[in-house]
Amino acid sequence: MPTLDIHNPATGALVTTLPADDAASVAAKATAARAAQPAWAAVPIADKVAVMQRFRAAVVAQIETLATTMTQETGKPIALSRNELNGLLPRLDFFMEEAESAVRDEHVFDGGGMHEQIGHIPLGVVLNISAWNYPWFVGCNVIVPALLTGNAVLYKPSEHAALTGLHITRLLHEAGVPADAMQCLVGGGDVGVAALAQRIDGVFFTGSHATGVKIAQAVAHRMVKLQLELGGKDPMYVRADADPRAAAESLADGAMYNTGQGCCSVERIYVHEAVHDAFVDHFVTTVQGMKRGDPMDASSYIGAITRAPQLQVLQAQVADAVAKGATLAVGGRVLPGPGNWFEPTVLTNATHAMEVMREESFGPIVGIEKVASDDEAVALMNDTRYGLTAGVYTRDEAKARELLARVNAGSVYWNCCDRVSPRLPWSGQGDSGVGLTLSRHGIQTFTRPKAWHLRQA
Ligand code: NAD
Repeated sequence: MPTLDIHNPATGALVTTLPADDAASVAAKATAARAAQPAWAAVPIADKVAVMQRFRAAVVAQIETLATTMTQETGKPIALSRNELNGLLPRLDFFMEEAESAVRDEHVFDGGGMHEQIGHIPLGVVLNISAWNYPWFVGCNVIVPALLTGNAVLYKPSEHAALTGLHITRLLHEAGVPADAMQCLVGGGDVGVAALAQRIDGVFFTGSHATGVKIAQAVAHRMVKLQLELGGKDPMYVRADADPRAAAESLADGAMYNTGQGCCSVERIYVHEAVHDAFVDHFVTTVQGMKRGDPMDASSYIGAITRAPQLQVLQAQVADAVAKGATLAVGGRVLPGPGNWFEPTVLTNATHAMEVMREESFGPIVGIEKVASDDEAVALMNDTRYGLTAGVYTRDEAKARELLARVNAGSVYWNCCDRVSPRLPWSGQGDSGVGLTLSRHGIQTFTRPKAWHLRQA
C-alpha cells in the first residue's frame, strides 16, 4: 500500500503518514464515480443546494480545526487560513444562489410550429487536479459547482494539501454527497497521471504551467473538456498621479500576502519616475513591518515556503537580478531552518533582462522598475507569456479604464490587486491557461449545451 508523508513546512516535522492511492485504487474510484453519477444528477437541484448548505454550516462549525490543518500542512499563517475559510463562504453562497438559474433550460425560439430550447447537462465524471496554495478556494471553485450541476467528481488535492483535501471530501460526504460521487485521490503527480488515464469527461486543473502542459498532452488525443488555471507574472503600474503611500501599502500586501504564494500575487511593479522614490520608501517600510514567524501565531503575516525546492528558485532569481544591476532593498536570503523560510524581498532598479521580472517567483519577492510614461508601462506589462491579472493605481478613472483595456490579462484592477470575486470569471490569457472558474460562466462550464429542435406533429 503506498503512503504519503505530510511534513510541516514551517518546522520540517512529520505531521502524519497517509494511505495513498495507486493506479488500481484510482481505477476503482473512477469506475464507482461513473456508476454513481446518474443517480446524483437526478437529485433535484433544491436538494443538492440543501447538501451544500449543510457543507457550508460544517465549514463554519469546524473552522478552527480546518484552519489548523491547513496551516500545519502548508505553512500558511493561521490568520490567513481563517481568512481563506471565511472567504469561501460567499463563494459557496454565490454558487448555491446561482446554480439553478445558470443551468435552467433556455427557451430561445417559438415559431412556425418549431420550438427551440437549450439544455445544460452535466459533463459526467469530472477530474479536478488541484494546487496547495489556496486549497479551499481552488478546490471548491471546481468541486462545488461541478456537484451542484450533477457531475461526479474525482478530486486529486495537492500532495502538499492532502489533509485539507480529505477534510473537504469528508464534509461533503457528511453533508449528503454520496461517497462514490465524490472521491478523493491521495498522492502526488503519479496519482494525477493515473487519474488522467481513466474514462473522464472533463479535466479541471489548477497548478503550474509545466504540469498544465503535461496534462494537456495526456488528454490531447481524447475528446475531454480541458481547463487549465496556471501561473502568472502579475504586473501593476503606479501612475504619476497616484498616492505613493496608499499604492505602496496596497501593493506590498498584494505581493506578500500568503507569503507571495498566490497565482495573482503581485510579482512586478512599474512606477512612474514622478512618484518612484516616495513609492519605494513606503513599500520597503511596509515590507519591513511585516511580521514573520510561527504560522500558528495569530499575529504572523509571513509564513513558511510550502515547497522546499522553491527556495532555490527564489535564491536564483535574487542572484540573477543583483548580478544584472538590481538593488536589493530588503531581504534576499533563505533563512536557516528548521523548515522552509525566505525573507520578504524587494528588488529595485529591476529590468526585463532579469528573471524576477519574467518568470513566476511564487514567493515573497517583488521587482520594481522605474518607467517614464504610461505607454512604457503598458508595453512592459504586456511583455510576458502570462496574462492572469494586472492593475493600475491612479486617481484618474478614465485613464485607468483606457490603460487596463490595453493590458492582456484575464482580470484587471483599478486601485486594488490580488483580488478574486465569485461574481466575476477567473481566467488567464496566454500561458496562464484556458477556460475559467467562478461567475455564472464558471457554473455552466461543468455542463454541455444540448440543442433541442421540437416540432409539433
Ligand atoms: P503543480 O503543477 O506542481 O501541481 C499541481 C497538481 O498537479 C498537484 O496536485 C500535483 O500532484 C499534480 N501533478 C503534478 N504532476 C502531474 C502530472 N504529470 N499529471 C497530473 N497531475 C500532476 O502546482 P502547485 O505547486 O501545486 O501550485 C502552484 C502553481 O499553481 C503556481 O504556478 C500557481 O500560479 C498556480 N496556481 C494557479 C491558480 C489559478 O487560478 N490560475 C490558482 C492557484 C495556483
